[in-house]
Amino acid sequence: MWEERFRREYGEEYAQFLLVKFQPPPRVCPVCRTDTIREIWLGDAARMLGKSLSGLWYLWCDSCLRCIRAPQGHCPVPNEGSYYQWSDGQALLHAMPRGLHMIEPVLNATTETRKTSQSRMPTPVGHVVKGTSTD
Ligand SMILES: [Zn+2]
Repeated sequence: MWEERFRREYGEEYAQFLLVKFQPPPRVCPVCRTDTIREIWLGDAARMLGKSLSGLWYLWCDSCLRCIRAPQGHCPVPNEGSYYQWSDGQALLHAMPRGLHMIEPVLNATTETRKTSQSRMPTPVGHVVKGTSTD
């Protein structure tokens, strides 16, 4: 089961949000139970994956401001989806609420590939306040 795998690989808190990503709408926040889940893609035209544009996604809850990003680095951007240009990170930051609490995956079995993909990921520095709870 995905659920088990996610928990094992990323830890409970991250896994809960990751499962939301694959839920059909309306997607409900696993923490505050409101349907204010939002998702944004950052497309990277410099790194195509086959015929697909690759990119990173961010998913957060507008109510409790918990946020996760793609755990494994670049993945294909959905064709029907809109995205922000890689070079326009500022637009992405403006589209995200202030004071987001990033939930980082717990990397128990740290592999080289995972380390690498993690370090490539941009963190919205100065925008995301890590460890700040708004409860
Ligand atoms: Zn929430």
